[in-house]
Amino acid sequence: MTKVAKIALITGGSRGIGAATALQLAAAGYAVCINYLHKHEAAQQVVQDIQSQGGTAIAIQADVANEVDVVRLFAEIDTRLGKLDALVNNAGILMQQCRLEDLTAERINRLLSTNVTSYFLCCREAVKRMSTRHGGKGGAIVNVSSAAARLGSANEYIDYAATKGAIDTLTKGLSVEVANEGIRVNSVRPGLIYTTMHADGGEANRVERLKTNVPMQRGGAPEEVAAAISFLLSDAASYITGSFVDVSGGR
Ligand code: NAP
Repeated sequence: MTKVAKIALITGGSRGIGAATALQLAAAGYAVCINYLHKHEAAQQVVQDIQSQGGTAIAIQADVANEVDVVRLFAEIDTRLGKLDALVNNAGILMQQCRLEDLTAERINRLLSTNVTSYFLCCREAVKRMSTRHGGKGGAIVNVSSAAARLGSANEYIDYAATKGAIDTLTKGLSVEVANEGIRVNSVRPGLIYTTMHADGGEANRVERLKTNVPMQRGGAPEEVAAAISFLLSDAASYITGSFVDVSGGR
Protein backbone atom coordinates (compact mmCIF):
# COMPACT_ATOMS: atom_id res chain seq x y z
CA MET A 1 0.00 0.00 0.00
CA THR A 2 1.39 3.44 -0.87
CA LYS A 3 1.98 5.73 2.08
CA VAL A 4 -0.11 8.91 1.93
CA ALA A 5 2.11 11.95 2.36
CA LYS A 6 1.40 14.44 5.11
CA ILE A 7 0.36 17.85 3.86
CA ALA A 8 1.92 21.13 5.04
CA LEU A 9 1.20 24.79 4.36
CA ILE A 10 4.02 27.30 4.76
CA THR A 11 2.83 30.90 4.58
CA GLY A 12 5.47 33.17 3.08
CA GLY A 13 7.27 30.15 1.66
CA SER A 14 8.76 31.86 -1.39
CA ARG A 15 11.86 33.23 0.36
CA GLY A 16 14.04 33.17 3.46
CA ILE A 17 13.00 31.03 6.42
CA GLY A 18 9.77 29.91 4.72
CA ALA A 19 11.55 28.64 1.61
CA ALA A 20 14.14 26.75 3.70
CA THR A 21 11.30 25.20 5.71
CA ALA A 22 9.41 24.15 2.57
CA LEU A 23 12.52 22.40 1.25
CA GLN A 24 13.17 20.58 4.54
CA LEU A 25 9.55 19.48 4.97
CA ALA A 26 9.43 18.22 1.39
CA ALA A 27 12.64 16.24 1.99
CA ALA A 28 10.94 14.76 5.07
CA GLY A 29 8.10 13.52 2.86
CA TYR A 30 5.47 16.24 3.19
CA ALA A 31 3.51 17.45 0.19
CA VAL A 32 3.89 21.20 0.64
CA CYS A 33 1.92 24.28 -0.30
CA ILE A 34 4.07 27.37 -0.65
CA ASN A 35 2.06 30.51 -0.10
CA TYR A 36 3.39 33.89 -1.25
CA LEU A 37 2.21 37.46 -1.74
CA HIS A 38 3.92 38.96 -4.84
CA LYS A 39 7.03 36.99 -5.78
CA HIS A 40 5.53 34.40 -8.12
CA GLU A 41 8.86 33.44 -9.70
CA ALA A 42 10.58 32.88 -6.35
CA ALA A 43 7.70 30.66 -5.22
CA GLN A 44 7.82 28.71 -8.49
CA GLN A 45 11.57 28.21 -8.04
CA VAL A 46 10.98 26.59 -4.63
CA VAL A 47 8.31 24.36 -6.20
CA GLN A 48 10.73 23.35 -8.97
CA ASP A 49 13.56 22.65 -6.51
CA ILE A 50 11.26 20.33 -4.57
CA GLN A 51 9.89 18.61 -7.67
CA SER A 52 13.37 18.06 -9.07
CA GLN A 53 14.18 16.11 -5.89
CA GLY A 54 11.08 13.96 -6.35
CA GLY A 55 8.86 15.85 -3.91
CA THR A 56 5.36 17.27 -4.22
CA ALA A 57 4.79 21.02 -4.05
CA ILE A 58 2.34 23.65 -5.22
CA ALA A 59 2.46 27.45 -4.91
CA ILE A 60 -0.61 29.55 -4.12
CA GLN A 61 -0.73 33.34 -4.14
CA ALA A 62 -2.78 34.75 -1.26
CA ASP A 63 -2.53 37.79 0.99
CA VAL A 64 -2.80 36.11 4.39
CA ALA A 65 -3.85 39.41 5.96
CA ASN A 66 -7.02 39.19 3.87
CA GLU A 67 -9.74 36.87 5.21
CA VAL A 68 -11.22 36.09 1.78
CA ASP A 69 -7.76 35.14 0.49
CA VAL A 70 -7.09 32.89 3.50
CA VAL A 71 -10.38 31.02 3.06
CA ARG A 72 -9.57 30.56 -0.65
CA LEU A 73 -6.01 29.40 0.15
CA PHE A 74 -7.19 26.62 2.47
CA ALA A 75 -10.03 25.58 0.13
CA GLU A 76 -7.56 25.29 -2.73
CA ILE A 77 -5.26 23.12 -0.60
CA ASP A 78 -8.24 20.87 0.26
CA THR A 79 -8.89 20.39 -3.45
CA ARG A 80 -5.35 20.14 -4.81
CA LEU A 81 -3.49 18.31 -2.00
CA GLY A 82 -6.01 17.07 0.60
CA LYS A 83 -6.56 17.63 4.32
CA LEU A 84 -3.88 19.65 6.06
CA ASP A 85 -1.60 18.03 8.68
CA ALA A 86 0.83 20.87 9.38
CA LEU A 87 0.70 24.67 9.31
CA VAL A 88 3.74 26.93 9.47
CA ASN A 89 2.59 30.50 10.09
CA ASN A 90 5.66 32.31 8.79
CA ALA A 91 4.65 35.23 6.52
CA GLY A 92 5.68 38.48 8.13
CA ILE A 93 6.86 41.99 7.47
CA LEU A 94 8.74 44.78 9.17
CA MET A 95 9.10 48.39 8.08
CA GLN A 96 11.65 51.22 8.08
CA GLN A 97 13.54 51.50 11.36
CA CYS A 98 12.33 54.42 13.49
CA ARG A 99 11.50 55.50 17.01
CA LEU A 100 8.04 55.23 18.50
CA GLU A 101 7.39 58.99 18.01
CA ASP A 102 7.40 58.41 14.25
CA LEU A 103 4.91 55.53 14.12
CA THR A 104 1.53 56.11 12.46
CA ALA A 105 -1.74 54.29 13.01
CA GLU A 106 -1.69 53.22 9.35
CA ARG A 107 1.71 51.55 9.74
CA ILE A 108 0.86 49.90 13.07
CA ASN A 109 -2.39 48.52 11.68
CA ARG A 110 -0.66 47.17 8.58
CA LEU A 111 1.86 45.33 10.74
CA LEU A 112 -0.89 43.97 12.97
CA SER A 113 -2.97 42.69 10.06
CA THR A 114 0.00 41.07 8.26
CA ASN A 115 1.82 39.66 11.29
CA VAL A 116 -1.02 38.92 13.72
CA THR A 117 -4.48 38.77 12.07
CA SER A 118 -3.05 36.48 9.39
CA TYR A 119 -1.73 33.99 11.98
CA PHE A 120 -5.13 33.93 13.72
CA LEU A 121 -6.99 33.40 10.44
CA CYS A 122 -4.67 30.61 9.28
CA CYS A 123 -4.85 28.92 12.72
CA ARG A 124 -8.66 29.12 12.52
CA GLU A 125 -8.79 27.41 9.13
CA ALA A 126 -6.21 24.81 10.21
CA VAL A 127 -8.06 23.97 13.45
CA LYS A 128 -11.32 23.51 11.51
CA ARG A 129 -9.56 20.85 9.45
CA MET A 130 -7.29 19.23 12.06
CA SER A 131 -9.31 19.16 15.27
CA THR A 132 -10.88 15.85 16.32
CA ARG A 133 -13.76 18.07 17.49
CA HIS A 134 -14.49 18.75 13.82
CA GLY A 135 -13.86 15.18 12.64
CA GLY A 136 -10.18 15.82 11.82
CA LYS A 137 -7.24 13.51 12.59
CA GLY A 138 -5.09 16.03 14.45
CA GLY A 139 -2.07 18.01 13.32
CA ALA A 140 0.64 20.45 14.31
CA ILE A 141 1.08 24.20 14.02
CA VAL A 142 4.30 26.21 14.31
CA ASN A 143 4.06 29.97 14.61
CA VAL A 144 7.21 31.84 13.60
CA SER A 145 7.62 34.55 16.23
CA SER A 146 10.88 36.40 16.93
CA ALA A 147 13.44 37.07 19.63
CA ALA A 148 12.09 40.61 19.21
CA ALA A 149 9.08 39.51 21.31
CA ARG A 150 11.48 39.22 24.26
CA LEU A 151 13.87 42.06 23.38
CA GLY A 152 11.43 44.79 22.21
CA SER A 153 13.44 46.19 19.23
CA ALA A 154 14.02 49.65 20.75
CA ASN A 155 15.06 52.32 18.22
CA GLU A 156 14.26 49.96 15.36
CA TYR A 157 10.67 48.71 15.30
CA ILE A 158 8.78 48.30 18.57
CA ASP A 159 5.61 47.82 16.51
CA TYR A 160 7.09 44.74 14.81
CA ALA A 161 8.32 43.37 18.16
CA ALA A 162 4.85 43.85 19.66
CA THR A 163 3.25 41.83 16.84
CA LYS A 164 5.58 38.97 17.75
CA GLY A 165 4.62 39.29 21.43
CA ALA A 166 1.02 38.81 20.30
CA ILE A 167 2.04 35.66 18.43
CA ASP A 168 3.55 34.18 21.59
CA THR A 169 0.24 34.79 23.39
CA LEU A 170 -1.66 33.20 20.49
CA THR A 171 0.62 30.16 20.69
CA LYS A 172 0.10 29.77 24.43
CA GLY A 173 -3.68 30.21 24.33
CA LEU A 174 -4.38 28.07 21.29
CA SER A 175 -2.07 25.29 22.45
CA VAL A 176 -4.21 24.86 25.58
CA GLU A 177 -7.49 25.26 23.69
CA VAL A 178 -6.76 22.39 21.27
CA ALA A 179 -4.40 20.22 23.35
CA ASN A 180 -7.06 17.55 23.80
CA GLU A 181 -8.13 17.67 20.15
CA GLY A 182 -4.98 16.19 18.57
CA ILE A 183 -3.31 19.50 17.71
CA ARG A 184 0.05 20.72 19.00
CA VAL A 185 0.89 24.44 18.73
CA ASN A 186 4.41 25.78 19.24
CA SER A 187 6.52 28.82 18.36
CA VAL A 188 10.04 29.30 17.14
CA ARG A 189 11.70 32.61 17.93
CA PRO A 190 14.50 33.31 15.44
CA GLY A 191 17.17 35.84 16.29
CA LEU A 192 19.37 37.50 13.66
CA ILE A 193 18.91 35.43 10.52
CA TYR A 194 20.46 36.11 7.11
CA THR A 195 17.45 36.94 4.93
CA THR A 196 16.48 39.96 2.84
CA MET A 197 13.90 41.02 5.45
CA HIS A 198 16.43 43.37 7.09
CA ALA A 199 16.62 45.43 3.89
CA ASP A 200 12.91 46.21 4.34
CA GLY A 201 13.86 47.94 7.60
CA GLY A 202 16.41 50.03 5.69
CA GLU A 203 19.51 48.12 6.82
CA ALA A 204 20.45 45.22 4.57
CA ASN A 205 23.61 44.53 6.61
CA ARG A 206 21.87 44.61 10.00
CA VAL A 207 22.96 41.08 10.96
CA GLU A 208 26.63 42.02 10.39
CA ARG A 209 26.28 45.12 12.58
CA LEU A 210 24.62 43.31 15.48
CA LYS A 211 26.16 39.85 15.43
CA THR A 212 28.77 40.65 18.09
CA ASN A 213 25.85 41.05 20.56
CA VAL A 214 25.06 37.37 20.03
CA PRO A 215 26.86 35.00 22.46
CA MET A 216 27.69 32.71 19.51
CA GLN A 217 29.11 35.76 17.67
CA ARG A 218 27.31 35.06 14.39
CA GLY A 219 23.99 35.36 12.59
CA GLY A 220 21.90 32.30 11.81
CA ALA A 221 21.00 30.61 8.54
CA PRO A 222 17.36 30.14 7.46
CA GLU A 223 18.04 26.38 7.44
CA GLU A 224 18.85 26.47 11.17
CA VAL A 225 15.39 27.92 11.87
CA ALA A 226 13.77 25.48 9.46
CA ALA A 227 15.33 22.56 11.36
CA ALA A 228 13.64 23.66 14.59
CA ILE A 229 10.31 24.10 12.79
CA SER A 230 10.61 20.66 11.18
CA PHE A 231 11.37 19.07 14.56
CA LEU A 232 8.37 20.71 16.25
CA LEU A 233 6.07 19.46 13.48
CA SER A 234 7.46 15.93 13.63
CA ASP A 235 6.32 12.96 15.71
CA ALA A 236 9.61 13.31 17.63
CA ALA A 237 7.97 16.33 19.30
CA SER A 238 4.76 14.42 20.12
CA TYR A 239 4.62 15.60 23.78
CA ILE A 240 5.65 19.21 23.09
CA THR A 241 2.97 21.88 22.89
CA GLY A 242 2.74 25.51 24.00
CA SER A 243 6.55 25.74 23.82
CA PHE A 244 8.90 28.39 22.49
CA VAL A 245 12.15 27.42 20.82
CA ASP A 246 14.67 30.27 20.63
CA VAL A 247 16.86 29.91 17.53
CA SER A 248 19.01 32.89 18.29
CA GLY A 249 22.58 31.91 19.14
CA GLY A 250 22.04 32.40 22.88
CA ARG A 251 20.56 35.91 22.84
P1 NAP B 1 11.47 37.41 4.12
O1 NAP B 1 12.70 36.79 3.58
O2 NAP B 1 11.25 38.88 4.05
O3 NAP B 1 10.21 36.67 3.43
C1 NAP B 1 8.92 37.07 3.78
C2 NAP B 1 7.94 36.09 3.18
O4 NAP B 1 6.60 36.47 3.60
C3 NAP B 1 7.92 36.11 1.66
O5 NAP B 1 7.67 34.79 1.22
C4 NAP B 1 6.72 37.02 1.33
O6 NAP B 1 6.13 36.73 0.06
C5 NAP B 1 5.78 36.61 2.45
N1 NAP B 1 4.73 37.59 2.76
C6 NAP B 1 4.86 38.85 3.22
N2 NAP B 1 3.65 39.41 3.40
C7 NAP B 1 2.73 38.48 3.03
C8 NAP B 1 1.31 38.45 2.97
N3 NAP B 1 0.56 39.51 3.34
N4 NAP B 1 0.71 37.32 2.53
C9 NAP B 1 1.43 36.25 2.14
N5 NAP B 1 2.78 36.21 2.19
C10 NAP B 1 3.42 37.32 2.62
O7 NAP B 1 11.25 37.01 5.68
P2 NAP B 1 12.11 36.05 6.63
O8 NAP B 1 13.25 36.82 7.14
O9 NAP B 1 12.28 34.72 6.03
O10 NAP B 1 11.07 35.94 7.86
C11 NAP B 1 10.11 34.92 7.95
C12 NAP B 1 9.48 35.01 9.34
O11 NAP B 1 10.51 34.94 10.32
C13 NAP B 1 8.73 36.32 9.58
O12 NAP B 1 7.55 36.07 10.33
C14 NAP B 1 9.73 37.13 10.41
O13 NAP B 1 9.09 38.08 11.23
C15 NAP B 1 10.39 36.04 11.21
N6 NAP B 1 11.72 36.40 11.72
C16 NAP B 1 12.75 36.68 10.87
C17 NAP B 1 13.98 37.01 11.40
C18 NAP B 1 15.19 37.35 10.54
O14 NAP B 1 16.23 37.75 11.10
N7 NAP B 1 15.11 37.22 9.24
C19 NAP B 1 14.16 37.08 12.78
C20 NAP B 1 13.09 36.79 13.61
C21 NAP B 1 11.87 36.44 13.06
P3 NAP B 1 6.74 37.41 -1.30
O15 NAP B 1 8.05 36.69 -1.56
O16 NAP B 1 5.71 37.11 -2.34
O17 NAP B 1 6.93 38.86 -1.03
